[in-house]
Amino acid sequence: MGPDNDNSAVLDLNLRVRGIANLRVVDASVFPNITSGNINAPTVMVAEKAADMIRGIDTVGEFKNRVWSVILNITKCNVSEATAGRYSYRFFWRYFYYLEPESIISDTVKEEYDYVVVGAGTAGSVVAARLAEDAGTSILLLEAGGHFDESKLTSWGSGWIALYTYSFDWGYYTESEKDVFKGLAGKRSYWPRGKALGGTGVLNGMQYTRESRFDYDRWAVNGCVGWDYKSVLPYFLKSEDIHISELYSSSYHSRGGPIAVTYSPPSGLTPLVLKAGFELGYNVTDYNGELQEGFSVVQSTLRNGIRSSTAHEFIAKEKRQNLDIVTALW
Ligand SMILES: Cc1cc2nc3c(=O)[nH]c(=O)nc-3n(C[C@H](O)[C@H](O)[C@H](O)COP(=O)(O)OP(=O)(O)OC[C@H]3O[C@@H](n4cnc5c(N)ncnc54)[C@H](O)[C@@H]3O)c2cc1C
Repeated sequence: MGPDNDNSAVLDLNLRVRGIANLRVVDASVFPNITSGNINAPTVMVAEKAADMIRGIDTVGEFKNRVWSVILNITKCNVSEATAGRYSYRFFWRYFYYLEPESIISDTVKEEYDYVVVGAGTAGSVVAARLAEDAGTSILLLEAGGHFDESKLTSWGSGWIALYTYSFDWGYYTESEKDVFKGLAGKRSYWPRGKALGGTGVLNGMQYTRESRFDYDRWAVNGCVGWDYKSVLPYFLKSEDIHISELYSSSYHSRGGPIAVTYSPPSGLTPLVLKAGFELGYNVTDYNGELQEGFSVVQSTLRNGIRSSTAHEFIAKEKRQNLDIVTALW
């Protein structure tokens, strides 16, 4: 994405492909510069903003002025909520909160749709679900991979590395590199990518990081007007459902959005690491808040111990009559 005077930008600032009518790209590839940390939350933000652009509306008004009015209390952090995800509890939530994946897949498709969304990954699930909020609009969501029941393999956060090479992973390898990957077979590196409803969001590490505000301000300085931190923050807030009690009143967090955010279950080392950071002169901080430098328990996209992917939260909670979802295309 880039301004009109940037000849290297494939997309304009509304994510439209230059020179092709009625085609937009909405995913992690649109960033003009890669942000400084994990990019799932920024990808959801992009998708939320894109859905508003396509619908021609502004759905984030209520969030717009919040961040500038409240002073954040970042000094107290406890990890009590993180222990909520006991196994039986997760089992209960998985089966009573979300629909079975089979029940949201369509058997038939119509002749025409208002919108076709290709790829039901992190971004595609958000875009399709938000467009479907307009009851008079019809949407077809196409996903190359199948659906898979995330609870079987991914509900337990620390098990995510075991997910690679399954059928829901594209299983990419890099080309052989002369000077790197010297310890790897064929000098090729394995690059997992999700191939399922929810895309890479169903096999990622679930870390919830929005990155530095300066990443977005740099986008704007380089010509991406409307993508500065103040402009994108409401879209982070729109999708968030914070479950960390000491952050409920923070203007950098929000309750009631689709994606649940809570602390990862702490290990025995967690308090020691936080204490060590404190002794070195760092605060225990909210790294998605006002002051990002410091130590913290990891914030994760988990709801009651279940992975809070965009597939789960945006499309698997209800079957919408105006949204047809077709999976397992190849
Ligand atoms: C191993 C790993 C761990 C990660 N951990 C974290 C983390 O802890 N925190 C974080 O913030 N980020 C993490 N990320 C990054 C984050 O998950 C991704 O950046 C994000 O999910 C990308 O979203 P996306 O919508 O761009 O693509 P994806 O979520 O990959 O979605 C693309 C979708 O399109 C489908 N598709 C592709 N081609 C076609 C086609 N021709 N027709 C139909 N469908 C198609 C794919 O099957 C897929 O479902 C991790 C990434 C990886 C690989």
